[in-house]
Amino acid sequence: MFLKAEPDLKKWIDIKPWYYEKLASNVIENLRKNNMDGIYISSAREARKKIFEMVEREVPEGGIISWGGSVTLINLGILFDLQKAGRWTCINPFEDIVTPEEIHVARHWMLTEGALEKTIKKWRAALNADLYLTSTNAITLKGTLVNSDGYGNRIAAMMFGPKKVYVVAGCNKIVRDLDDAFARVRNVVAPQLVRMMGGEPKSKDEEQWYPPCSRLGRCGGEPKLLKNCGHKNRACGMTAIIDQPHIPNRIFVILIGEDLGF
Ligand code: SF4
Repeated sequence: MFLKAEPDLKKWIDIKPWYYEKLASNVIENLRKNNMDGIYISSAREARKKIFEMVEREVPEGGIISWGGSVTLINLGILFDLQKAGRWTCINPFEDIVTPEEIHVARHWMLTEGALEKTIKKWRAALNADLYLTSTNAITLKGTLVNSDGYGNRIAAMMFGPKKVYVVAGCNKIVRDLDDAFARVRNVVAPQLVRMMGGEPKSKDEEQWYPPCSRLGRCGGEPKLLKNCGHKNRACGMTAIIDQPHIPNRIFVILIGEDLGF
């Protein structure tokens, strides 16, 4: 049977904002029960403006702002806006990270020896920030944040140190429960992150620097944290589960009704 007319695809596609708003409102309700808070913003463009206004209210002139590695924050353009404003001391911990092309020269994972020392100093300084911005690898419907790091700088700052933490995430990062969060971290986040940071191995010899997820497009261990790949450059060696901090509203989650980051 033939369709009488072209289907109105826009009508079908446009249902996603409704769904994301519903998902986000469930998450925010649960965040509030757990000593955190949050808001929903429907678009990335609006979020960029709104987050800047929130920072203006939150951090006095001369205050310290820092952030964790995040494709979401970079794509939003908010890190650029904050640095350009010149009103705050912005600690950019990633100035010394080399590009994938340079990695092939440096033969070290993401950082050359000297750059690693400089970056670790910045990661430590970031713990004293007035405001820390980050995204999250996953957030459950119950409002639990799940994140894995290689070095642990980002999860450390999320858990303790900076006076306030803004967690900025697209609703694509909302998952049902902890099992789904762990699976997301290992099968969605890690493969793309490692590949993005490391680029394409140029030879068989270089492949040794890459954890299995960057070749397979999924975890080479076990998604529920029972088994890992054991690789020396493992991307997920430290995992933090944040679901009920003691300091009220220190963590503020900004959920955006678009697919952002990975
Ligand atoms: S355990 Fe290894 S293969 Fe699995 S996600 Fe982590 S780094 Fe990748």
